Amino acid sequence: MRPLVLVSPSIAAAGVEMPDPSISVAGAYLESVIRAGGVPVALPLSDDPALIADAVAQAHGLLLTGGEDIEPTLHRASVSDALRATCFLDHPTRDSMELALIREAFRRQMPVFAICRGHQLVNVALGGSLYVDLPSERPGEVQHNQVARRFEAVHRVRIEPDSTFARLVGGAELGINSTHHQAVNQPAPGLRAVARADDGVVEAMEWDATTAASNGWFLSVQFHPERLAPTLAAHARLFEGFVAACRAGMPGRISSPTS
Ligand code: MN
Repeated sequence: MRPLVLVSPSIAAAGVEMPDPSISVAGAYLESVIRAGGVPVALPLSDDPALIADAVAQAHGLLLTGGEDIEPTLHRASVSDALRATCFLDHPTRDSMELALIREAFRRQMPVFAICRGHQLVNVALGGSLYVDLPSERPGEVQHNQVARRFEAVHRVRIEPDSTFARLVGGAELGINSTHHQAVNQPAPGLRAVARADDGVVEAMEWDATTAASNGWFLSVQFHPERLAPTLAAHARLFEGFVAACRAGMPGRISSPTS
């Protein structure tokens, strides 16, 4: 039996068939999970805690996908109108839905792989901070929003040795794509930055083994390995590591935590 991987969708209201807020998932995420040996299932748009708890209880992993910007007041006390105007926000229910998914998945020590927006939202969920507008709040020499070249490695990251990310990639550097407007500022307590761009922007995080050793498999990345996995083996190995952790958790996974 292949592990079941919950996939958080984007939300779109488009066309004749979907005038209501409807889910949309880039095929590359689903195909990357399938190639790595998992069964991906896209979730509906709902932040109902009971529905989310039941979905997580029946699954073996959670994949958080990319998307639009995160509501800044989720991690900042106040935001100027000018700063807010730089944002293109996602559907508000998507924020609350994914925050609930993150909390429930971590509570059950279920493997979590968080990509781009997901990488940022996990940091918010655990009490970290974001750059709301990376170009104005942290100007640097690296171009982080290169949508036209989203299927290419456009900048490198330097990887911390002795990390899951380094073991999966198999080296100290990786070429990545970069299509983000926001970014992690201060990693949340319990998280460790394991890869940074040359300007210092956090491009991947894991649990800090010194403070959070028993929270289950977790990797977050600011880039989009699902777009590079078909051509670059190191990116495919991130999905393989995630799905392997999902599979490993199937027989002995904690099914009824006490809290
Ligand atoms: Mn980047």
